[in-house]
Formats: sequence, C-alpha cells, structure tokens
Amino acid sequence: MYLDNAATTKMHPTVIKVMQECSYANYNAKYYDEALKTQKEINAATKNIAKHLGVNIKNVVFTSGATESNNMIIKGFYENNSQAHYIVSEREHKSVLAVFEYLASLGCDVTYLKTTDDVININHLIPLIKENTKFVSIMAVNNETGIINEVEEIAKYLKSRNIKFHSDCVQALGKVKINYQLFDYISLSSHKIYGPKGIGIAIVDNEIAPLIHGSSQQNNFRAGTLANELIVGFSQAINLALDTLDDNLLAYQKQRQKIITFLKENLGDDLIINFSHNIVPNIISIQIADEINQLFLKENSAIIKASTGSSCSITSPSYVLQAHNFTKEQINQTIRISLSIYDEYKIF
Ligand code: PLP
Repeated sequence: MYLDNAATTKMHPTVIKVMQECSYANYNAKYYDEALKTQKEINAATKNIAKHLGVNIKNVVFTSGATESNNMIIKGFYENNSQAHYIVSEREHKSVLAVFEYLASLGCDVTYLKTTDDVININHLIPLIKENTKFVSIMAVNNETGIINEVEEIAKYLKSRNIKFHSDCVQALGKVKINYQLFDYISLSSHKIYGPKGIGIAIVDNEIAPLIHGSSQQNNFRAGTLANELIVGFSQAINLALDTLDDNLLAYQKQRQKIITFLKENLGDDLIINFSHNIVPNIISIQIADEINQLFLKENSAIIKASTGSSCSITSPSYVLQAHNFTKEQINQTIRISLSIYDEYKIF
C-alpha cells in the first residue's frame, strides 16, 4: 500500500490525458496556429486556477514548485522591505524556515512563533507583533501532523493591522475548505494533488520582487518559458481537488477509517494515534509502541510504503514534533501515513 501521498502523489489519469493533448508550442510565439493554441490553453488554465482559488489572474505566478514559491514570496518581499519585522512559526516546512535563516544572516529581524498547543491561532501571534511588523508566514496545514491552523482568522486580523500574510497551503489544497481570498500570499504545489511534479504556484502582488530574472514572461514576476504541459496538468489537478471537495473529504474520511481499523486489528494496544482533532483527513500521525520508525518502515516496506514524516534522521529528530513537546522516544516511534482517494487498499 502506498501511504506516502503527503510526500507526493501518483498523477491522475485525467491529468496525464490533458498533458498529452496539450499544445507544444512556445506561449510567446506569435505567427502560427500551434502558438495560438498554446496561448488559449494556458490562458484558460490560468483563469480556471484563479477562479477556483478566488484570486485575480494577474497575481498567479507559475513556479517550479512550492519550494520556489516560498522562496520567491519571502525573499521577494524582503527585497522591498528589509527594515521590517517578520514573524514565522517554527513548525513551517524547511523551504520557509531555511529562507528565514538565510535572511536572518543578512540582518533580517525575524521572530519565531513557538507554542506547544496543537493549533496555531491569533492569540499566539498577537504578543509577537511589533510596530514595524510587516509580514507573517504561517502554514495552513502541517505536513507531518496534518494539523489545521486557524489561518483564516489570522488573515482577517492581520488585514486589520495592515500586515501582509503568507500561508503555505501545500497540504491544505483539496484537504480542507479554505477561503484563499483572505491571504495576501499563497504557496501551492501540484504534485501533492495528483498533478505533475516540477510545478507550483505563488500568489503574489507588486510588493514581491522577482526571484528569477530574464525575459518578460508572467508579467516580469518570473522569467522562463512557460511549462505548457505542467500548467494544464496542474489546472486539471485543481479541478479534481476542488470541484468535488465535499465528496473528496468524505472519501478521505472513509479511507482513514479503513486504515485505522486495519492498524488497530494488527497492532492492538501498541497503536497510538498522535493527533485526532483539527486535522486533515488524509494524514494520520501514529506511533507503534517499542518500534523504531525507520526500522519498522524498512522491514515492512513490502506492505506499507510510508514515511517518518520528515527527512530528519534518528540523530536529528523532527523539529515539528519537538515543537509539540514530543519526547525523543515518541518521535522515533512516529510514522506518517498519508492517503489517496484514488487507491483501493485491497489488503482489507
Ligand atoms: N510546503 C509544504 C508544507 C510541503 O509539504 C512541501 C512538500 O514537501 C513543500 C512546501 C515543498 O513543495 P515542493 O515539493 O513543490 O517544492
């Protein structure tokens, strides 16, 4: 059973189909029909994505993935606001934390939001805000725990204080209902939602300086030839994720129940479920008593293909679980299971 869908997903057949059928010509070519077909297809895909997210088409930038989106948004804002104060939660993905570590080395004033509470909310944030705070970055859903933070409330509050809000929504897209219109800056990734790898989206505004310079593609926000196949594939993946979101969430819940029943039957009291509230239905963080996660996953990889939830090794345990006050033993027992609604899990 492939149970590592929060790491990456298999492309959906309908995604492969639209990618195969899409035009190969360069979006910026002018004089032949194939180029016009490309323009039509890319414009339609961009419009479709903007409509699904409720954002303006001119704010959508295609990147190589969410790592680049996070880099673009944070570095791009800093370039125009280097004297400002920044706040970021310590449980963010490495592609956010590493950017702030780098900016701090250049002199950026950054405060890390730390809490042992499961859900990050406005009360954790307010005491950290200074007069010159201009930018806050808090992920919508954590990739290791599946915990959903109160990002909509945070976004509304920050708007009232005239502070820009960035949310890494990679693990939220298609897994929880979110009003994306509330956020100033958003990072998304296609390969977590049954789309192709190598493409992401950054929702930006004019305060973001470009990360990649070159020709004038994407309103000068990001140079480089547009990736036709990846863009139409991502657009189709967003259709799958959001057109039937309610049904998808129910399907994830069903898969979750199935897997938990299977685990309970096989592990009994040795199964510990780490988080049960305020979580997305597709991520199950568990511990198996007295089992070291890496050894268990290697030994059982023919049956269960999952991960420890982070790329950290036994010698450097998950900083996310540490932030939740887990002991070293609990961290070394933790396994992240992440589900697909398109797999049958025939073992039952
Ligand atoms: N942010 C989160 C929360 C993630 O889970 C991931 C993927 O692991 C990323 C960012 C990076 O995404 P990408 O693989 O598209 O660079």
